[in-house]
Amino acid sequence: MKLWLIGAYGIVSTTTAVGGIAIEKGLVDRTGLVSELPQFNSIDDYVKLNFKFGGHEIRDLEGNFYSAALMHWEKNKHYDFNILNEVKNDLKNIKARKGTALMCGTGIEEFGEIKTLEDDELSLREIVDKIEDDMRRFKDNETVVINLASTEPVHRFNKKYHESVDGFERMIDEDEKKYASASMLYAYAAIKNGIPYGNFTPSVGSSLPALKKLALENKVPHVGNDGKTGETLIKTTLAPMFLYRNLKIVGWMGYNILGDFDGKVLSHKDNKESKIISKDSVLEKILGYSPYSITEIEYFPSLVDNKTAFDFLHFKGFLGTKMKFYFIWDGIDAIVASPIVIDIARFLLFAKKRGKYGVIKEMAFFFKSPMENRVINTHEQFYQLVSWFREML
Ligand code: NAD
Repeated sequence: MKLWLIGAYGIVSTTTAVGGIAIEKGLVDRTGLVSELPQFNSIDDYVKLNFKFGGHEIRDLEGNFYSAALMHWEKNKHYDFNILNEVKNDLKNIKARKGTALMCGTGIEEFGEIKTLEDDELSLREIVDKIEDDMRRFKDNETVVINLASTEPVHRFNKKYHESVDGFERMIDEDEKKYASASMLYAYAAIKNGIPYGNFTPSVGSSLPALKKLALENKVPHVGNDGKTGETLIKTTLAPMFLYRNLKIVGWMGYNILGDFDGKVLSHKDNKESKIISKDSVLEKILGYSPYSITEIEYFPSLVDNKTAFDFLHFKGFLGTKMKFYFIWDGIDAIVASPIVIDIARFLLFAKKRGKYGVIKEMAFFFKSPMENRVINTHEQFYQLVSWFREML
């Protein structure tokens, strides 16, 4: 499969590329890949684990996938260096193309010098044409675009430009840059060119009505939003236990600290808001009521990519007695996220090959804010994915 990654030189993207090629070469096993579970064993007949990578970036454009992966490795040492060394030659020749950072908020200022298509004083139509052209040159029948760029601020919905495909194209032709964010433009370019699209971030991506309609018209499968990999994965796996035992959760506090670029970008109020909304809404959807909740995300530089989540739950049991439960999650973000990126791409290609298009609701299992699916309970989501897969065979 060919993965076009938006945010190509980020830690999740480069770890996905290192891991994908290492799997293909037989250097590492497939632990962490959901699609390798026995329930999905015939997926290999449809989508094999062989890889080509490319993508869009807005920084370090003189570098390549290897230099970017090495930079992240030096800061994090998040896997055995020999693996990186063995895939060095495969990654060295892959260079990202210049992308757009329209309406990406103040968070990306943290990257220092960035280079974008809009710096070249291009119109919206010219920016979109360039993005499409890059994707078209790369694509074949087994290509997927995955958004792994920094989280954008929440965008206000604009009925005139975001509701219909015609409106969206009018926005481009009228050069209305203030209504267009980078993530929606990349999603538009992918879907317009028939490429399945997955949004691993909380940014708007393909969730606009206009882009959902375009995906139906062009028969393109797409999914999002925001990969479920850490604290939210645990929250949505644990909360159902309280529900099944008829224990009432009265309060849930989650305090997340993380370093690295993602942490820096999320330390900006407008960029952080998207993430908090995505994390916060899950409890009410599972429990049917909303307990008192606090969700904090703070930048903690020395942790680099090691995210720590401290969670405290207050719950009420028999005779009205209140009890407490605490957990600490010490995950390495890129290590939990990267196999899921491969899974998302693989299931999207499977969907395409089985003639499914539009939002693939049954892939909710992979997301914090699944599109068009109110099932948030991880157990139920897993069974949905398994039954969908079996029905599609
Ligand atoms: P990162 O900061 O290492 O990488 C983001 C990359 O995107 C950077 O290289 C940056 O230069 C690039 N970028 C920013 N804006 C861009 C744009 N408009 N166009 C092209 N490139 C752009 O972050 P990461 O840890 O790799 O995470 C990537 C995304 O995935 C973030 O939005 C994060 O919130 C999301 N996410 C991560 C996890 C996880 O477990 N790691 C889980 C869910 C969601």
